[in-house]
Amino acid sequence: MPIDATQPYDDQNIFAKVLRGELPSKKVYEDEWALAFHDINPQAPVHILVVPKRAYVSWDDFSAKAPDAEIAGFSRAVGRIARDAGLVEPGYRVLYNVGGHGGQEIPHLHAHIFGGRPLGRMVG
Ligand code: 5GP
Repeated sequence: MPIDATQPYDDQNIFAKVLRGELPSKKVYEDEWALAFHDINPQAPVHILVVPKRAYVSWDDFSAKAPDAEIAGFSRAVGRIARDAGLVEPGYRVLYNVGGHGGQEIPHLHAHIFGGRPLGRMVG
């Protein structure tokens, strides 16, 4: 069920529980700003989710409210994870779903990193 991206942060969401260690995940990376783990229902041979350590509902919330250092740290983590997964060549996709039309289901910001096969053109 897609979320309303303007809703207040709900600390009972699945990724908040993963961040607190209350739910298991297949971790691929962690630093000061980000935790990354494999998607439970992968849509490509590589499908990694990257979540900020702090509480943001969506990309909208994050891009409006996060300090510049956090935006930089999180963005660098996303790039590094893709690089470390060997995806830069032949290429990959980063996707943020936001709200209902974006199809976002979990109300904690997450970047999807897809790779490992040709992904086709996707322009909306
Ligand atoms: P959204 O639609 O919110 O952008 O994407 C949510 C993603 O989270 C989906 O790709 C879904 O497969 C994944 N997901 C849902 N529940 C879990 C879970 O408990 N663990 C992991 N690793 N991924 C999950």
